[in-house]
Amino acid sequence: MNLPLDFDKVCIQPMLYDVWAARSIEVSVLRIDRLHPVISGNKWFKLKYHLIDAADKGFGTIASFGGAYSNHLAATAFACKEAGLKSVGIIRGERDAHLSHTLQQAEDDGMQLIFVSRNDFKDTEHIKVQFSKPDWYWVNTGGYSILGAKGAAEIFNWIDDSYTHILCATGSGTMMAGLIKAAKLHQTIIGINSMKNKTLLDDVTFLLTADEVQKKYVLLHDYHFGGFAKHPPSLIDFMKKVWQEHQLPTDIVYTAKLLFAAFDLIEKNFFQSNSKLMIIHSGGLQGNLSLASNTLPF
Ligand SMILES: *Cc1c(COP(=O)(O)O)cnc(C)c1O
Repeated sequence: MNLPLDFDKVCIQPMLYDVWAARSIEVSVLRIDRLHPVISGNKWFKLKYHLIDAADKGFGTIASFGGAYSNHLAATAFACKEAGLKSVGIIRGERDAHLSHTLQQAEDDGMQLIFVSRNDFKDTEHIKVQFSKPDWYWVNTGGYSILGAKGAAEIFNWIDDSYTHILCATGSGTMMAGLIKAAKLHQTIIGINSMKNKTLLDDVTFLLTADEVQKKYVLLHDYHFGGFAKHPPSLIDFMKKVWQEHQLPTDIVYTAKLLFAAFDLIEKNFFQSNSKLMIIHSGGLQGNLSLASNTLPF
């Protein structure tokens, strides 16, 4: 599968503050957001084995699910366009007069959008029965599956054994599961939940083997800033600070909350000295285009 991804642009960006260095805490950001503006960050990894499986089995259309801010659907639409597949997005809720930028992007990339009520959306199995056509290959919301996690595990190819803690944002939990699969026993995966969903850890562990469940990981629920895609002024201010001090762009839905959590946890002495942190910049920057144009300096 030949997609226009810039693997050469992925880099590890150090984040330095004297107060962190004084406590021997080393922090880096893994910039997989730089792979591509739309199939950015973790989305390619989660889609990869689904697309390969669909192609192997001769399916011509990828169908998946999401809400108005689904980076997953925008990425799926683009990847399918590039791979010569058709794409369908089942969207939670009625169609607004103005589509979110994310859904507009998906539609512009050829995705057929089908809107279903919030209530009907809960029963994905029924939706499949209702809409499916013979050549549709279904991918769960957020690419959640063993195949999705298998792809996400490849993000670990950039992370060596010296890192003690790997921090990631979570939506469906697929990336976190993949990172746990790939982690060594001495490494701790820390998920920062971008939603108020308290049962997410079960979704993560469901994708793990009995051995993987024993590894070190924790999911934190205190950094959702009011819920999924909520972005109060305090979050926007933090994003500006991170941009000014590190030229690091973050997105309102996931990575800004992740970075905020990292800063806060360091300040609260969550990490012992000599910890070495890798923060996964999982992309999602196109989601910021839902903001008024002068909201952010990047
Ligand atoms: C989709 C997304 C996530 C969430 O990944 P999951 O595997 O669904 O938990 C995290 N960060 C960004 C930027 C995303 O777009």
